[in-house]
Amino acid sequence: MKPAPFEYVAPTSVAEAVAALSTAGGDAKVLAGGQSLVPLMNLRLARPAVVVDINRVAGLDAIGVRSGLLSVGALVRHADLAAHPDVAGWPLLRDALALIGHPAIRNRGTVGGSIAHADPAAELPAVLSVLGGSVMAVGPRGTREIPAGDLFLGYLTTALAADEILTEVRFPALPGAAGSAFVEFARRHGDFALVGAAAVVSLGRGGKVADARLSLIGVGPGPVGVDLAPLAGKPGAEETWTAGGELAAAACEPDSDLHGPAEYRRRLAGVMAGRALARAAERAR
Ligand SMILES: Cc1cc2nc3c(=O)[nH]c(=O)nc-3n(C[C@H](O)[C@H](O)[C@H](O)COP(=O)(O)OP(=O)(O)OC[C@H]3O[C@@H](n4cnc5c(N)ncnc54)[C@H](O)[C@@H]3O)c2cc1C
Repeated sequence: MKPAPFEYVAPTSVAEAVAALSTAGGDAKVLAGGQSLVPLMNLRLARPAVVVDINRVAGLDAIGVRSGLLSVGALVRHADLAAHPDVAGWPLLRDALALIGHPAIRNRGTVGGSIAHADPAAELPAVLSVLGGSVMAVGPRGTREIPAGDLFLGYLTTALAADEILTEVRFPALPGAAGSAFVEFARRHGDFALVGAAAVVSLGRGGKVADARLSLIGVGPGPVGVDLAPLAGKPGAEETWTAGGELAAAACEPDSDLHGPAEYRRRLAGVMAGRALARAAERAR
């Protein structure tokens, strides 16, 4: 199918892009890598009157480390970020990037696009959530920082206003000696995951759990955080990770769909979460 007719604008600055969004009065879409927007438009599930192509906007493709944060410009492609030397210090992000689609999608798709699109099965929103990161957004009312906890509002929905552009994604470093892991299950290599889990684990004295965090994908309208407080002080051992998996299964609210019933996804969430916690603990120092 072909998209419905639309007006195409290609601004060269963030200010011009914001002006184009404002002028369109809510009936515009930002075009970044196009890996999600273009299929939606071709299927006529999205019919924006105006498409604002930000690929010529200068300054949105920088990657750098500042005060313990990895700063990633919205237009940075998944593949370019994965190949950047600074990502070595963000192993959870590196693991997650390798799980996104196929090489062609990673060559074109952008970090800002993945976050702004907020697909419930996308890896990067879970990474941003479990690390407690944030995004920078620019709109007609100025620039604001939105913490991950306030950003993901529901299915394909974020706190970004229709006239705001996401310009930068900020990933905090793992705390001290923490380990991390991203584990997911997909029916075929390169498919969106059915269920996935991003885990961060810190072990304290005697190898006991000092801190454990989880964010799940594919089991709710957005990344699903799990309260793992009951694991604090427990031994860093298999039964603890299994218990973490049970907490994860209880925390998620999957829907039934053509891939399987809700109970299947819930069970898978428990298994993926348990494995992610165990692998993260193995990597903790
Ligand atoms: C076959 C296939 C498999 C895929 N598998 C996966 C997968 O396993 N995991 C995964 O995470 N993703 C997957 N994707 C999606 C891919 O990662 C895309 O990169 C991502 O969904 C969107 O990024 P994009 O740059 O292409 O955004 P676009 O498609 O250009 O935009 C997506 C949405 O975000 C908005 N947007 C984009 N950038 C901005 C911005 N800077 N500010 C404000 N709004 C913005 C757009 O307006 C649009 O609504 C897959 C895609 C395909 C086609």
